[in-house]
Amino acid sequence: MDCSTTSMTNDRVTIDRKRIFNNDRTVDCNQLVPIKYRWAWNYYLDGCANHWMPTEVSMQRDIEQWRDPKAFTEEERHAIKRVFGFFSTAESLVGNNLVLAVYRCVDNPECRQYLLRQAFDEAIHIHAFQYIVQSLSLDEGEIFNMYREIRTIYDKDEHAMSCTGNILDTQWDTKTDVGIQNLLKNLIGLYVITEGIFFYAGFVTILSFGRQNRIPGSCEQIQYILRDESVHMNFGIDLINTIIDEHPQVWTDVFKNQIVEFIKNGVNLEVNYINECLPNGILGLNQDLLKEYIQYIADRRFSRLRLPVQYGAGNPFPWMSEVIDLKKEKNFFETRVTEYQTGGALEW
Ligand code: FE
Ligand code: MN
Repeated sequence: MDCSTTSMTNDRVTIDRKRIFNNDRTVDCNQLVPIKYRWAWNYYLDGCANHWMPTEVSMQRDIEQWRDPKAFTEEERHAIKRVFGFFSTAESLVGNNLVLAVYRCVDNPECRQYLLRQAFDEAIHIHAFQYIVQSLSLDEGEIFNMYREIRTIYDKDEHAMSCTGNILDTQWDTKTDVGIQNLLKNLIGLYVITEGIFFYAGFVTILSFGRQNRIPGSCEQIQYILRDESVHMNFGIDLINTIIDEHPQVWTDVFKNQIVEFIKNGVNLEVNYINECLPNGILGLNQDLLKEYIQYIADRRFSRLRLPVQYGAGNPFPWMSEVIDLKKEKNFFETRVTEYQTGGALEW
């Protein structure tokens, strides 16, 4: 039975035949139940509980502050624009990878239920940066072209996309161990490196302004995005580990070493980006502290992937630990984000 064309049969879908991806196409991809991967369904529910819309956040104070020539130093403006420049296209890049590559390969219905939710989250994130850029009257051409004009941003995006090409090849499939390794590498590139490492220097930078009550609307949106991204990454890591558990023969020592190098390479690119964003440091942030922080979160990602930690770095921003990677997605901000559940419950 093919995924898109079904035929008459008495052969019902049972849980034990369900897989993350169905090599032989014998299991219907349209049947959510019986649910095998309960964790995927739970991430879908978590994602929906976190729903928000950018335009519900007031940008009035950000607009006033941004217009005030004395409100920011040139270096602060440079850092803020670099962060928005990276995110404004990175969110589209993630959405495209998700829909064109991941969704195509991962055909289990409960995983796809979450992927559909995540895809909508990415649309909201793309909207958020469009809304911020428009509100602050930033130069759209400058911000949206940074991924082609600024080397350190280009390099991050190039690294993120480097493993998508393989699985978009029409000859590619998950019947071979190499094919499954390609899928894993793409999932790690997307969920662990792009969403789990490349986003974090930007999160720290904007949230540092928020801690001083500056650009509070942008900061509030970044908090919602961080909350969403935390769910995305946790789903991604559970997906990756489930594929590894179902296909242990592909998780060889050679492949594990390749993955470690792949992630360390991502860390180096993030450090280059930090150095370009913050040449002299701002707001108690500097290149060394941010580098240490990125190494610290990379070690956490290695642990989640059951790989040896590589840096042994400490957390230089303990205030961020409150907001990162918590299993329970509620109550980790001290602001009203905590109570944010559905559009109907909003009171700004
Ligand atoms: Fe996103
Ligand atoms: Mn995401």
